[in-house]
Amino acid sequence: MSRVALITGGTRGIGAAISMALRNAGYRVVATYAGNDERADAFHTVTGISVYRWDVTDYEACREGVAKVEADVGPVEILVNNAGITRDAMFHKMTPQQWHEVVNTNLNGLFNMTHQVWEGMRARNFGRVVNISSINGQTGQMGQANYSAAKAGDIGFTKALAQEGASKNITVNAICPGYTATDMMLTVPEKVMTEKILPQIPVGRLGDPEEIARCVVFLVADDAGFITGSTISANGGQYFA
Ligand code: NDP
Repeated sequence: MSRVALITGGTRGIGAAISMALRNAGYRVVATYAGNDERADAFHTVTGISVYRWDVTDYEACREGVAKVEADVGPVEILVNNAGITRDAMFHKMTPQQWHEVVNTNLNGLFNMTHQVWEGMRARNFGRVVNISSINGQTGQMGQANYSAAKAGDIGFTKALAQEGASKNITVNAICPGYTATDMMLTVPEKVMTEKILPQIPVGRLGDPEEIARCVVFLVADDAGFITGSTISANGGQYFA
């Protein structure tokens, strides 16, 4: 039986591309989402991939959600922590709510989800965890103190957990996408996109979600067991980490 892969935020954008790429690579895929039922239903109708709704900021909801998935399809052997949000503001205007929403989703969500599958991975002596960080966690980004802090935290989490998982054949890696064409980028004003963002990207375009997904397919493979604690940059040459 093929391995079960759970992708948080797997119904839209980069997560949807990851869900489809893993399904096409032969895994049994489950995609979660936060609240956009319309997009999740459409994704399920087109792909046939099972979708589950819960909030990764809620530890108890993650516990119940993962238990339901495991009862339905079997143990989660591959976890892709992809769910993420932005709430951009210059720091002097940033509200506590903007700070906490972003940290709770993009960083605490990794604890809430990984904690649910970690014991099972240890017991089965196999696991793959991939955390979707960001170029802005590597470089820092004006107007994103919250997001940059959370995404840098994802990388620290990855490196620490990789050391803990290594003896149990569990790999933990991070991917740092550069600017990628998804709904998240729709919040960026067009002027900022054409005058500030695109000129910084040597390949001269945004990334495609599928270009991030291929990194995930690479990292979760059974024969990728020697790659752990690493950070893959997929950013069109914008930053060499
Ligand atoms: P989208 O906004 O297109 O999709 C986000 C997905 O995450 C949706 O499925 C959404 O569910 C889900 N989600 C958001 N919050 C929660 C939550 N609290 N609980 C559960 N699910 C949640 O994002 P992208 O595809 O653009 O981004 C995916 C990841 O890649 C994020 O971690 C992002 O930070 C990172 N990234 C993106 C870049 C980009 O340029 N797009 C660049 C670098 C990193 P719902 O549909 O219900 O809202």
